[in-house]
Amino acid sequence: MTPTPGGGHFVGGRFGDGGGDRHRVLDPSTGEEIWSFAADTPADVDAAVAAATTALPAWAGATPAERSTILGGLARELEAVAEELAQAETAQAGKPIRLSREFDVPGSIDNVAFFAGAARVLDGKASAEYSADHTSTIRREPIGVVGSIAPWNYPLQMAVWKVLPAVAAGNTVVLKPAELTPLTTLMLAEASQRAGLPAGVLNVVNGPGRSTGEALVSHPGIAMTSFTGSTSVGRHIAGIAAANGTRLHLELGGKAPFVVHDDADVEAAVRGAVAAALINTGQDCTAATRAYVHRSRFADFVEGVADLMGTVRLGPTRDPDTDQGPLVSTTQRDRVAALVDRARGAGARVVRGGRSPGGALEGGAYYEPTLVVDAGQRSEIVQQEVFGPVLAVLPFDGDDEAIRLANDVPFGLAASVWTRDVYRAQHATREIQAGTVWVNDHIPIVSEMPHGGQKGSGYGKDMSTYSFEEYTQVKHVMSDLTGVAAKPWHETVYRTRRA
Ligand code: NAP
Ligand code: MG
Repeated sequence: MTPTPGGGHFVGGRFGDGGGDRHRVLDPSTGEEIWSFAADTPADVDAAVAAATTALPAWAGATPAERSTILGGLARELEAVAEELAQAETAQAGKPIRLSREFDVPGSIDNVAFFAGAARVLDGKASAEYSADHTSTIRREPIGVVGSIAPWNYPLQMAVWKVLPAVAAGNTVVLKPAELTPLTTLMLAEASQRAGLPAGVLNVVNGPGRSTGEALVSHPGIAMTSFTGSTSVGRHIAGIAAANGTRLHLELGGKAPFVVHDDADVEAAVRGAVAAALINTGQDCTAATRAYVHRSRFADFVEGVADLMGTVRLGPTRDPDTDQGPLVSTTQRDRVAALVDRARGAGARVVRGGRSPGGALEGGAYYEPTLVVDAGQRSEIVQQEVFGPVLAVLPFDGDDEAIRLANDVPFGLAASVWTRDVYRAQHATREIQAGTVWVNDHIPIVSEMPHGGQKGSGYGKDMSTYSFEEYTQVKHVMSDLTGVAAKPWHETVYRTRRA
């Protein structure tokens, strides 16, 4: 049985149901319904924003220690239901249970624990006299009510990345998860209540992006929109934010390059590429999608990746022996299949995969690990986000060419460089346009370090104390030290004249 939450939305500390149409949550490994909920209408979104607005003054005024204690409790509450969270994540998103247990859930809990601590070390410039007559101090204040929108690929992690820095800094939140995957976000809200998070600090509304999501991001009561999702929806939301003057944080798509130099350890690069391309069935915004391999190592790399991809086991998501699950939906599977088919049509060669498995997996949204060569740099499969288990491999000849190709896409979220030459590595990490560059690895993340994009991948940071730059505003307080009525600088504006 899949664990299910107490209602379709969580507003002002209460579970309830929206006033809109019913939506089904499916297990993409079988196509079976696991839950359903009624979508939230603009009136439901209003109620959620009102609850967050009511909760704001007390939460913003709580001491860092008070906020930290509650968030520390949230980490422990999540730990207590870790297996239920893993089961729900696997059921709704089609993740192999090993991934949910070893990556999604512990990573989320670690992030909560990190922000419980970080809540106490919000800092800024020291107070000082920058003019002889004044003392300046800095206040770091919350923004207000944050409207957050999360995607379906890592539902619990993305909810945590959105909620934790915001509430640690004293904001209140209304969060909309993706319609396909709301379960673990609602379970997060449930756990926050058990941890003693005051009602209204975290609210979850639920429903499609174009209705419920749009009602949230265009609501006049929110001070900030924090969005993780596709570049196209992000730009649409940026237009709404611009019209309303709403502060904005955008974490958008990616198309990470994976650059393998001639001096690289090819076995390490092959193993790294397969893991980084197939993690979460490739539905990872930092996944390795374009490997650029020095021509002298190209054949070895392609053969190694093809062989290793051939050992990856697709299977039922609850089987701990399954390596790769389905895509999140048949729609997403069909999108990926169409991209690969168009690449084939345009002259690319599919060395492995490029189809859905039949047999026992036929009812699920499965797609085989896929390796593509001979696609041009300008081709769709190299330029656009696939968001599936597909790696394209292209050759290069010189270091500068590798960097030029790596940068030649609209995105800039993540990248890796594989070399044993420290100068090459340093040069590449400086030149590659991405929010994260790995050296001789690709994927690992840590709560202490920031995640975020450059170029079409958006701006602003998730995780780490850098995220407080998004969720706080700095106030300068300047206090007169002299107690003098006639201040010397007044003389510049008006001369003191005798009557
Ligand atoms: P998406 O279609 O952009 O949706 C993301 C979220 O936005 C969902 O909750 C969606 O709701 C909502 N939404 C859609 N239209 C909206 C609108 N008009 N107003 C308000 N909200 C709206 O992206 P996705 O397909 O779910 O997720 C995959 C994408 O996310 C990929 O491009 C991936 O790279 C990106 N991503 C980026 C990061 C990062 O950190 N940079 C992390 C993870 C994913 P519904 O789905 O319920 O309609
Ligand atoms: Mg979508």
